[in-house]
Amino acid sequence: MSDGTHTAAQVTLARLPSGVELTTTVHTYRGADPGPTLYVQAAQHGREINGTELLRRFHERLPLESLSGTVIAVPVANPLTFDRVSYTTPEPFDSINPNMNRVWPGDADGSLHQRMAARLWEYVTAADAVVDLHTGSPDMLPHVVYRAGDDRSRALAEAFGTDLLVAERTGDDAPDAWSRRDFDGKLRVTVAEEGVPAITPELGHNKQILEDVVADGVTGLLDVCRHLDLFPGAVPTRDQTVGRNHAGQVTATDSGLFRPNPTLEVGDVVEAGTSVGTVYHPTTYEPLHEAHVDRDGVLYTLTREATVTAGDRLANVALVDDENPGA
Ligand SMILES: [Zn+2]
Repeated sequence: MSDGTHTAAQVTLARLPSGVELTTTVHTYRGADPGPTLYVQAAQHGREINGTELLRRFHERLPLESLSGTVIAVPVANPLTFDRVSYTTPEPFDSINPNMNRVWPGDADGSLHQRMAARLWEYVTAADAVVDLHTGSPDMLPHVVYRAGDDRSRALAEAFGTDLLVAERTGDDAPDAWSRRDFDGKLRVTVAEEGVPAITPELGHNKQILEDVVADGVTGLLDVCRHLDLFPGAVPTRDQTVGRNHAGQVTATDSGLFRPNPTLEVGDVVEAGTSVGTVYHPTTYEPLHEAHVDRDGVLYTLTREATVTAGDRLANVALVDDENPGA
């Protein structure tokens, strides 16, 4: 068996007004034997650094000598938001598209984010599967999002192996916010629409390297590679719950201080009517909003940032889907 190769290329994503070139590193692992191509990236939202750390450890563990096919890995897809430890890019850089994950497949002649995405898209188009690594808030259960009804993307999500899988409705099945928030410009959605399986792992929370979450993520990505036959080995069968997002949001109907229900933790199975907490008036102490879950499901976010404004999201409940993974 001959060895595969690893190369790390500095790729120019765009040019800044000063003339400074915005570059990032693209790692290519090429097996000696032919096989599929996996594209994986992290930190297009630059504060979501668990994916970047995951790819560093994946680099150390990837068995190059038994690789059949190609893995392309981009640890920092968006250096601008990475340096700013932010979710979006400041207005002077891209006032039209501040969120890079709304512009895919990008545009080489467009705004800064569109140009950056278009450059990376050249690698994405070579892929037979795509993993876009993200992280959520400090109060989010790790989960993997895939396009509802897309069996190949779901199989990737199952291989990644988080306890909760979230099937996201797209297009006509999606809630009203879908097109208003340009969700069809997400990398995962754009790729899946082209018939290529794609997933978005949401791993723990941003800004901090969470040891367990990163370790599970490395295992998950290695299992995705095994699922794609990039290298040998069986993917373990796991007990996973499939939920639906968007429909199960609990939002504040009033502004004040939110005290989450102290008996709840993310990952809990909750029933319709469960209180997720209370919004109080901070000076008169008057309870303003007792926030309830309106249906049964898995609590996968519960906000811990206490100062809330009416309309803010307090919790997310994934509605347990009738489709059963592995069935
Ligand atoms: Zn993100």
